[in-house]
Amino acid sequence: MADFLTPAERSERMSRIRGRGNETTELALARLFRAHGFTGWRRHRPVFGKPDFVFAAARVAVFVDGCFWHACAAHLRMPRTNRRFWKKKLDANQARDRRVNRTLKARGWRVVRVWQHELKRRNEARLVARLRRRLGTV
Ligand SMILES: [Zn+2]
Repeated sequence: MADFLTPAERSERMSRIRGRGNETTELALARLFRAHGFTGWRRHRPVFGKPDFVFAAARVAVFVDGCFWHACAAHLRMPRTNRRFWKKKLDANQARDRRVNRTLKARGWRVVRVWQHELKRRNEARLVARLRRRLGTV
């Protein structure tokens, strides 16, 4: 397929895709929380780094990370075109994730990052076990 978009146009288009993808994965995690009896979470609280979910009482911030945008080692497929552009962008995303983790931890939060691929049904039991360990008594 010919790549007729400039990097800026592609970025804009991908960011709209990201918005939808994020919503889907967030809803999947919300469903999982409900199905497995996790309580005390809220979506989109005004907390540094914009966590997708917050367990305020336990001070746990949960992020759902897309395999592409957060450069999952198992699933990232770099686009064939504009590689330099994408590498720079994804590197910046990862640096921001690390900065958010550090800042939240310094402010007394526990940070849990859930990969998009962990929300696949075949990975669900493992994810639930991990969440229970990370969330402790929540
Ligand atoms: Zn992945």
